[in-house]
Amino acid sequence: MALPLFTRTRPVPVIESDPEPWSEIGETWMPEGITVVERYWNQANAVVLVYSGDESCYYHVVTCLGCHFNVAHDPDGSRDHRLTLNDAGRVANEHATTCRALSRTIPDRPNDDDARDQLRKTVLGCQLRDKDAEIHLSAFDLGRLTLQRTNGWIETELQQLAADRPDLVVAQTSYGTPKNYFVLPRPEELRG
Ligand SMILES: [Zn+2]
Repeated sequence: MALPLFTRTRPVPVIESDPEPWSEIGETWMPEGITVVERYWNQANAVVLVYSGDESCYYHVVTCLGCHFNVAHDPDGSRDHRLTLNDAGRVANEHATTCRALSRTIPDRPNDDDARDQLRKTVLGCQLRDKDAEIHLSAFDLGRLTLQRTNGWIETELQQLAADRPDLVVAQTSYGTPKNYFVLPRPEELRG
């Protein structure tokens, strides 16, 4: 008799200092900069992660280590909002019950140059055509599993980018401390 689906998609709360390997893949990987809150298993035993990059762990991302499913918003178009834990759990469970992709290897932590490249691409992805665009830390949510850096690292790099490329990134300071970051629109001559 087939096992009911819910036995394959159980959430397992993860304790941050948990040294136990993930039973399903024997890994002890704890990606830097994010908190893995729940794990689900797809139909081929690949892990579907629910993680948060927020310090408060309020918003979540669902990502599948089998296929390329990676969402920070509800894929149900009628609910265009970031994922609370309840929503993320539902989305992860729905994905896990239908995905049959085999588990991929866990991404290696990139070196600083590669991580900076990824950060710059994300910043450019925020760029608007005709006005400044604020860069929120949430812009990095979807890439956190490959970036594997802390929020502090991201902010330091944004400050550096603002110092190196004032034509691209501006840091708005509050009492002398960088607070908000904006990416400037592309100059007219670079537009395609
Ligand atoms: Zn999947």
